[in-house]
Amino acid sequence: MPLHTADALVLRTYKLAEADRIVVFLTRDRGKKRGVAPAARRPRSRFSGALEPLTEVRVAYFEKEQRELVSLNYAEPVRSPLGTPNPEALAYSAYFAELIDAVAADADADERLYRLGTATLEAITEGGPVLPLARYFECWLLRLQGVYPPDVTCAECGAALAAGEGAFLAMDGHGFVCRRCHGAQGTDDRYLSARALAFVREARRVGPQDAAGLGASDDVLRELEVAHRALLGVHLDRPLKSTRVVQALGRPSR
Ligand SMILES: [Zn+2]
Repeated sequence: MPLHTADALVLRTYKLAEADRIVVFLTRDRGKKRGVAPAARRPRSRFSGALEPLTEVRVAYFEKEQRELVSLNYAEPVRSPLGTPNPEALAYSAYFAELIDAVAADADADERLYRLGTATLEAITEGGPVLPLARYFECWLLRLQGVYPPDVTCAECGAALAAGEGAFLAMDGHGFVCRRCHGAQGTDDRYLSARALAFVREARRVGPQDAAGLGASDDVLRELEVAHRALLGVHLDRPLKSTRVVQALGRPSR
């Protein structure tokens, strides 16, 4: 039974039997795995402090052929969202981990998705504002899945979306459309202003720790939240559990 060691991100855990936990984790080199962490729910477990969602860990696990569940030998935290000075960020780290879990393929390494997770965790522990980071993370997650709509031309008429103008997210999420094509029939709740589109474009060029530096206002972040929620609804199989928590937190305080 071969022992593997790996860098990994904890995505979620659930209870198993008397005192164990199942841990879903994304390894850098071999994709998503599910493993048993024996006695993880006992006090002074060797896994304590290592299984919070989005914790970056060094793991060792045994894997048997034809067995879906691996057996975790140890998990040592390298960086933990518990280290954040911002209490709201903990709810978001669960949200980010759940999104990664929703898109990550089993046993299929995805270095870019892994790096998005670790870089986002790093930004969380640095303690910057979490709302721009959340919108940034969604941009990248959707982009890495190849489903973030192109923001250069209108998906209906093909006209260039001018830099100073906003656009509307099409109902099926396949593209952004210009005001003319959007016409009178649609609602305005999927409107991304020129500033929101600028955030989407700029997010490509910077790391997550610079998301707050893109200078998005509360209104812009709200527009992005609505559009991203719609896109995630189109592209994910099931609704996310953590969405309700972060939505409640996401109301900008005025
Ligand atoms: Zn158009």
